[in-house]
Amino acid sequence: MSHARASAAAFAAAFLFGCAPPGPKPEQTADAIYTGGDIVTVNDKMPTAEAVAVKDGKILAVGSKADVEKAHKGAATKSVDLGGKTLMPSFIDAHSHYINSLLVANQCKLYAPPAGPGKDVPSILAELRKFAADRKIAKGEMVMAYGYDDTVMPDGRLLNRDDLDAAFPDNPVRVDHVSMHGAVMNSLALKKYGIGAATKTPPGGVIVRKPGTQEPYGLIMETAFLPVVEKAGAMTPAQEIEWTKAGQMLYAEAGITTAQEGATHLPQVQTMKRATVAGANVIDVVAYPFITDVDNVLKEIPLSAWGTYDKHFKIGGVKITMDGSPQGKTAAFTTPYLAGGPGGEKGWKGEPTFPQDMANAMVKKVYGMGVPLTLHCNGDASIDGFLKAYELARAGDFTKPWNVTTIHTQFMRKDQIPKFVQYKVRPSFYTLHTYYFAEAHIANRGKEQAAYISPMRDAIDAGLRPTNHTDFVVAPLDQMFMLWSAVNRVSRAGAVIGADQRVTPMEGLKAMTIWAAEQYGEENRKGSIEPGKLADLVVLDRNPLKVDKMAIKDVKVLETIKEGRTIYRAK
Ligand SMILES: [Zn+2]
Repeated sequence: MSHARASAAAFAAAFLFGCAPPGPKPEQTADAIYTGGDIVTVNDKMPTAEAVAVKDGKILAVGSKADVEKAHKGAATKSVDLGGKTLMPSFIDAHSHYINSLLVANQCKLYAPPAGPGKDVPSILAELRKFAADRKIAKGEMVMAYGYDDTVMPDGRLLNRDDLDAAFPDNPVRVDHVSMHGAVMNSLALKKYGIGAATKTPPGGVIVRKPGTQEPYGLIMETAFLPVVEKAGAMTPAQEIEWTKAGQMLYAEAGITTAQEGATHLPQVQTMKRATVAGANVIDVVAYPFITDVDNVLKEIPLSAWGTYDKHFKIGGVKITMDGSPQGKTAAFTTPYLAGGPGGEKGWKGEPTFPQDMANAMVKKVYGMGVPLTLHCNGDASIDGFLKAYELARAGDFTKPWNVTTIHTQFMRKDQIPKFVQYKVRPSFYTLHTYYFAEAHIANRGKEQAAYISPMRDAIDAGLRPTNHTDFVVAPLDQMFMLWSAVNRVSRAGAVIGADQRVTPMEGLKAMTIWAAEQYGEENRKGSIEPGKLADLVVLDRNPLKVDKMAIKDVKVLETIKEGRTIYRAK
């Protein structure tokens, strides 16, 4: 339409309908238009844009400022000036343990630097005192903390019971180890959980004793810690709602609007369901019940309701665990650990969680249910075991689509990648281990294998679209630190861990947005800024594609938007 004819039509419209101001039709009028900063769409067809229009919680238009404003700016449209900040699709968590966020949202965070203040015993005690004072925790009430990392304590001076007794003579205190497999407690907490000098250390457990005595003094771990976990009381109905909101805010602060509950048992499904019915969800939560709990969960939520969000909550599929952790020497490998097993066993290769025939039956069952499958696989033998079970389940027919993701996939061998390509199985990687556990992996598995952990470069080059995850609360919920680790692969000690497996910042972003959306089967509604998709957005203080690669970890989340509504804004 020529300019002259357009003006004539506008004149005619104004004449016919009175004095209505010229503007877009109501269904084309945006609620808000974002301009004035970098817009990273994560859409290869239009990687950058000047403006994004949002309406009714969805992206209405993306393009040049002039075009978007002309077509979609009405009298009531809010103009949002990004002020030089960067707008992106919000982050999709490819694997974490959402249910734990409900608990740690009310606990003192003691991660080691840079994620937290836990660099030594005095810093830990100072943070605990501040936390108890800020929260006005009364005498006699429990003080809970998480993220304690004993491996960074200087000179081997570890946190002990006496430290906590001196700081908190009137409150039970429990400081959970970063692995979530143990804790250091003071005398009142030890008494509460019934652990004392007379408590025998169970097989597979650790109770550190005060030198020269039988008194528990420091970490209590593994099987010795299980009674503590079991005695921790269930949430009250009011806590379920309040803690759900607090836990989801941890994700929102990290720029995440879709969270994974990556290993769910029935009581946790029930908690999530009750919080959902009560309207407590502000982000999307996707739960993966453990294979051993699937039949119980089906009684609560029938298969026909799986895969569909109800008030931001859905059952995404099933989780199977194939092995343990490489740093704990419980991951299953085809070759022995260099430093022996957890109990000093020679020639130790780790063990699969389930015997192969049992794993075969489990994978087949999930295939028969026709739902997505996620599998915890760390060692190369566990990946071999998965591939064997997968091939048996499909019985030679690979035509029917089946959404399968391996979680961690850390010690994937190069020769396993073509199978993933052939079977269209998605690896979700854990590049944060190049920072947190590189030194442990070198000691356990040697330099060559350690350098090849989470081989994201080779996976992408082979045509796979991997995702990346934090495994929160095992690692902090920090998506920019995760991106930094995928791009740089630098260890805590400053060593480069497998330079040839580094990815570009854009590839790293895809692994936490559009490829993660594919992992959930939600690529048509999430993961990029494209018309018709949800307005799930994040505002960052800088553009991670433009800053120095080593500065990516310092990029901050300023605002998180879920379906057009701001759910978090940095203070
Ligand atoms: Zn996990």
